[in-house]
Amino acid sequence: MPEGDALYRFAEKVRRPLLGKVILAARSHGPGPVPAVEKIVGQAVTEVRSTGKNLLISFDNGLALRGHLRMYGTWHVYRPGDPWTKPEREARLVLEVDDAVVVNFSAPVIELIEQRSLGYHVPISNLGPDLLDDAFDLDEAVRRMRHPSRELLTIGDAVMDQRAVAGIGNIWKHECLFHARINPWRRVSELTDDELRLIFGKAQALLRASVGKENALGLTRRPTMYAYMRGGQPCRRCRTRLRAVPQGVDIRHTAWCPKCQPVVEGQLEPPRSRISRPLSVEQQETTQRRSGPH
Ligand SMILES: [Zn+2]
Repeated sequence: MPEGDALYRFAEKVRRPLLGKVILAARSHGPGPVPAVEKIVGQAVTEVRSTGKNLLISFDNGLALRGHLRMYGTWHVYRPGDPWTKPEREARLVLEVDDAVVVNFSAPVIELIEQRSLGYHVPISNLGPDLLDDAFDLDEAVRRMRHPSRELLTIGDAVMDQRAVAGIGNIWKHECLFHARINPWRRVSELTDDELRLIFGKAQALLRASVGKENALGLTRRPTMYAYMRGGQPCRRCRTRLRAVPQGVDIRHTAWCPKCQPVVEGQLEPPRSRISRPLSVEQQETTQRRSGPH
């Protein structure tokens, strides 16, 4: 599933050909509700940005397109007349300007909204602080994570709740908890504010590194994976074999190092793992998909 850093890169890619340009033609196809894209033909693009896992394209008549990719959606940019690398039937949105064609494939959510309503539009307005925002509000993220509805969730599940903090999916869940040395099965109520700050701080640094921004880990390239998809393999730091068991709403495998991310006294014990050898990519990535906008 594309996470905050992937959306940030998509925004850069789509901004380049579209910003300041007039939309000459626009088409949208199902499945799912089709936005009235004829309303943006003849309009100039005033802004392209990502927020959490959403991409927003704004136009000078006050409208904005919101795209959410969930598992399989993607954005491509072509020159007019060039062949596409994905089938046309998978195109959900096509925007044409004088020298480029921007195509969204397979996004479950493409909608046209008024910019002035963004502050009330629930998929956007209820997002927690965005980790890739230069003005990321760490205290607000901690405050939101402390909401009573999250108290009994394991941190491995809660850290992906976009209403608490925006931008973390399954990849960065694994990595921020590894770098913070926090066991993914600890409940939110068992963590101190300092531990939550540490987790979000690592997540912010990893996401920023992933898009080439200056970061607290001092990384100058895309971070190496220490836990994601590494169940059953030796820890890159201590050589202990990583454990992995299904966790949370998505029931995807969560991997962690039992030595670097130890169970602490009083913690709920992680479920017993039956893993004695590395898991396949399919086993680790997904067994069930989450649905509904978030
Ligand atoms: Zn380790």
